[in-house]
Amino acid sequence: MKNLVTGGAGFLGSHICERLLDQGHEVICLDNFFTGSKQNIAHLLGNPDFELMRQDVTDPFKVEVDRIYNMACPASPVHYQYNPIKTVKTSVMGAINCLGLAKRVGARILQASTSEVYGDPEIHPQPESYRGNVNPIGLRACYDEGKRCAETLFFDYHRENKVDTRVVRIFNTYGPRMSPDDGRVVSNFIVQALRGEDLTLYGDGSQTRSFCYVDDLVEAILRTMEQDETVGPVNIGNPVEFTIRELAEKVLDKVGSSSKIVEKPLPSDDPTQRKPDISLAKQALGWEPQVQLADGLELTIPYFRKAIGC
Ligand code: NAD
Ligand code: UDP
Repeated sequence: MKNLVTGGAGFLGSHICERLLDQGHEVICLDNFFTGSKQNIAHLLGNPDFELMRQDVTDPFKVEVDRIYNMACPASPVHYQYNPIKTVKTSVMGAINCLGLAKRVGARILQASTSEVYGDPEIHPQPESYRGNVNPIGLRACYDEGKRCAETLFFDYHRENKVDTRVVRIFNTYGPRMSPDDGRVVSNFIVQALRGEDLTLYGDGSQTRSFCYVDDLVEAILRTMEQDETVGPVNIGNPVEFTIRELAEKVLDKVGSSSKIVEKPLPSDDPTQRKPDISLAKQALGWEPQVQLADGLELTIPYFRKAIGC
């Protein structure tokens, strides 16, 4: 099977490339290196089944493939808010380019959507049927609405053009190959704890998130792609919920750090709670997460220790 992974040099994309190569498939990794890095795929470059394409997903491109994993998009609020208009273009024009390609070559295509389509949810936990509570004009809208529009495009291409689509809604995922300056909470806290710096808790830390380890996530994505019944959207995440303050305390404990936790202003529209209902993933994919947060942090901390030389 020949696979295209857009955003393949990023955190999740590089793990998908690696898993597909391990399974004996061919992989084309497309990336503009906005938040991804050559480091993430350096170990794959010598593999004859691996090809790297420096390319922006918003510009047209042609390749012959059987599967498309559309992962290209900055995922950290810091990075997607850096150039919000570009973020919308990446989600919307990127989806159009990938769907057009899938239609032309008859490839099956999967979209990396997000729990952000639920915005600041009033229903808890969030099932796929919940339509969300997104502020369309806020600072997070470039990402949230871009991803919502990408979902719309996926379902319209599916209905109108019979494109073989899959949509997964990914909840907060962490693990090795996140960039140390990614800006998301798990990487920030681990790096700060390792450096002996204060942990920056936004708000009072009572907001919640549910953290999925990368290996669990990749397994669910590959299963979604290779089953025939469920187009999606399918929630993928770990349903065990933590407050952000609990996460900070856990990281300090696991790193063995005496850093302090300091409160910083809460960014606008920061969702107060988030936890996936994964009933559909359990039933359609026979999947549920295997790695809980304490173990996942132990697998992740050594990576950051090496990456920042602490
Ligand atoms: P990441 O920032 O590490 O990876 C994104 C990759 O896309 C990077 O390699 C980046 O250089 C590339 N990219 C960005 N804009 C591009 C463009 N215009 N053209 C080509 N490449 C481009 O983030 P990640 O965590 O690996 O996220 C991957 C995907 O999964 C994203 O679509 C994200 O929205 C989605 N997602 C991730 C999470 C998570 O918790 N990790 C949660 C929900 C959704
Ligand atoms: N957060 C924090 N300190 C940080 C980074 C993030 O307290 O250094 C909080 C953030 O306000 C949010 C949660 O952690 O409530 C998750 O943030 P992240 O950016 O990882 O992802 P989100 O789920 O908000 O997209």
